[in-house]
Amino acid sequence: MQEVAVITGASRGIGRACAIELAKKNVKVIANYNKSKEKAEELKRELAEQGIEIDIFKCDVSKREEVKEMINFVLNKYGKIDILINNAGIAQEKLFTDLTDEDIDKMIDVNLKSVFYVTQETIKDMIHRQEGCIINISSVWGITGGSCEVHYSATKAGIIGMTKALAKEVGLSNIRVNAIAPGAIDTDMNKNLNQLEIEDLEKEIPLKRMGTPKDIANAVYMLIRNPYITGQVIKVDGGWID
Ligand code: NAP
Repeated sequence: MQEVAVITGASRGIGRACAIELAKKNVKVIANYNKSKEKAEELKRELAEQGIEIDIFKCDVSKREEVKEMINFVLNKYGKIDILINNAGIAQEKLFTDLTDEDIDKMIDVNLKSVFYVTQETIKDMIHRQEGCIINISSVWGITGGSCEVHYSATKAGIIGMTKALAKEVGLSNIRVNAIAPGAIDTDMNKNLNQLEIEDLEKEIPLKRMGTPKDIANAVYMLIRNPYITGQVIKVDGGWID
């Protein structure tokens, strides 16, 4: 029976690459988007042209009710969720002293509380079926901390704590929970960097380049396929961060 995967934030960047990777490996993909309807439709169209059908679903993952609706849609249509990739996220660069309550709340809602919401709504089915694979997209900043990204770093560190704790709690239900900590990946999230900044950054990375969304999608697939890895945080950063 075909595996079913929900990928949050799959309209662009890393989530989109994960959707393509899994769909091409014969996994039924439900690609979540929030604001980028056209991009999500483009992804669906692009795969359909190759004979691959995916579902796209609009949902703000920071809203519990919308998440419930999305997961119920998937469970009603496919009867199960085998793989959950919690990828949706936002970033913001700002001095710690300038952060407003709204900045802090938004970051925590979108990057961290959403992972609780989507995982809680999904995992009941996984526990019932005694099987499942959850991959959370953290960041190297969640490990080392990033200057001028304190609220972002805190949410990504929170995801790591959540990953490790949940892996311990649900291992006996044969559910694996892992995180990937990407380094600097070439997506819209880094479009604020100018050419000089990119060159400086690449000098610091042992593999001398930014990562691609596909680099992360490959790591996601590796984690999905290895049945004996759980509770881990895998850095995929070209050797950038010790
Ligand atoms: P991106 O290109 O900016 O894409 C972000 C994705 O998240 C979009 O598909 C966006 O959907 C979705 N999203 C944002 N808020 C959402 C919400 N409230 N509900 C549902 N979806 C939402 O970013 P990216 O680089 O691919 O980042 C993906 C993940 O990797 C994030 O968690 C990010 O923190 C992490 N990461 C990225 C890097 C990097 O260097 N790029 C490094 C470390 C970690 P819509 O456009 O449809 O709203």
